[in-house]
Amino acid sequence: MDQTAHIAILPSPGISHLIPFAELAKRLALHHNFHVTCIIPTTTDDRSDATKALLDSLPAAVDSIYLPPVNFDDLPKDAKPSAKLSLTITRSLPSLHHVLNSLLSTDNRLVAFLADPFGFEALEVAKGLNISPYVFVPLNAMALSVFFHLPKLDETVSVRFMRHLPDPIKLPGCVPLHGKDLFDTIQDRESENYKWFLNISKRLSLAEGIIVNSFLDLESAALKALQQTEEASGSSSKPPIYAVGPIVQTGLSTPKDGSECLSWLGKQPRCSVLYVSFGSGGTLSSDQLTELAFGLEMSGQRFLWVVRRPNNESAYLSEGQSQLEPRDFLPNGFLERNRDKGMVVPSWAPQTQVLSHGSTGGFLSHCGWSSTLEGVANGVPLIAWPLYAEQKVNAVMLVEGLNVALRPKVEENGVVPREEIAKVVKVLMDKGSEEGKRVRDNMKELKDAAAKALGKDGSSTRALSDLAFTLKNKATN
Ligand code: UDP
Repeated sequence: MDQTAHIAILPSPGISHLIPFAELAKRLALHHNFHVTCIIPTTTDDRSDATKALLDSLPAAVDSIYLPPVNFDDLPKDAKPSAKLSLTITRSLPSLHHVLNSLLSTDNRLVAFLADPFGFEALEVAKGLNISPYVFVPLNAMALSVFFHLPKLDETVSVRFMRHLPDPIKLPGCVPLHGKDLFDTIQDRESENYKWFLNISKRLSLAEGIIVNSFLDLESAALKALQQTEEASGSSSKPPIYAVGPIVQTGLSTPKDGSECLSWLGKQPRCSVLYVSFGSGGTLSSDQLTELAFGLEMSGQRFLWVVRRPNNESAYLSEGQSQLEPRDFLPNGFLERNRDKGMVVPSWAPQTQVLSHGSTGGFLSHCGWSSTLEGVANGVPLIAWPLYAEQKVNAVMLVEGLNVALRPKVEENGVVPREEIAKVVKVLMDKGSEEGKRVRDNMKELKDAAAKALGKDGSSTRALSDLAFTLKNKATN
């Protein structure tokens, strides 16, 4: 039965979605002998260097096909990234159909198609071609619970804005979540985004299985609750859930040369540097950027900061900022004053190498799920600074559920002031702080649990084997 089975995967647009998909593909190919075709939706003719380098680094059993770029000329200039994300998939459906059809005509072992939740329309294309649809949620079980819970929540709430919900939401097995901490895409129940999201939530059960980037020891109660509901409701309504994480980037993260910041890290004392990064597209307002700069300086701690031009909108899915000159928007004299203690990198750093470096002792993060798991896999405690998407859900879980992060207080005006930043940074990094020690110790334990989950008999290894077994069975039937 070990004739190579073939699966096709479709990450939604953006390097940060591609990274966990590529890593999952790698594992299925190397550990379970699958042939994987990675189908890449594109928005312009220019394929980013990072995407290309990532795809080129994959093993021979993983090949890739770019879909023809979709056209956004009809969209307003200020169209939101989430609108572009969903439209990229919608407008790629005819070419996806064509690609899947031609793969089928040459390989009768194409057994499954894996998309992320935002590609739910693509699942229907696969189903129509008799290819088993699966969903890979590159997020955690708590975020997946939000998806599953939303249709019910929608029927019960009467407020327009989720942030006005009077009581916290109690998702089974999860820490209570205030309405304001729900995904930003579902804050306004009258928005197009909300309708899109609700639609996704209702159609998740179309999948024959859901793979989630989490592991049992990280979210045992939430995962058990998801499975139990599934058993309680019978096989028809909720697909089996496979917790296979942490699936994090291995190897070099980008083709860009990160050697300068790595050699700077090499000269710093052990666990002394706070790495500051807001993911592939997070940006701060101009005021917030200034406060962060002064806050880092006031903390007296060493830092490695990936800076982006200030902007009130995220730079997600927008062009890179490679020509960036940080001096143009950092406070006057900041770079000179902090030359000995800090390093500033424009727009992108080799994150996985930074986090696994012995000099890195803390991570101020926007709580994107991949960044978070990279922190966990390396045992680096966090300062939770969520910006958009599901990042606030992650922050609540990390701070209130797992106790592996500190969350600075945001003022009424939406800005975290420099004094608060300096205080939180000192607590996390200063070896004398009890609170910091608790968070650091908890993160070390979580790191060990993550390694165990991925070990020979670990829960995630077993879940991936179960999935592989099920898929291979389809190839032989
Ligand atoms: N990343 C990186 N260098 C950077 C910023 C991000 O390598 O300077 C990688 C990071 O390691 C992670 C991904 O980009 O794998 C970001 O994904 P995440 O889910 O954390 O956040 P998003 O970009 O989706 O907001």
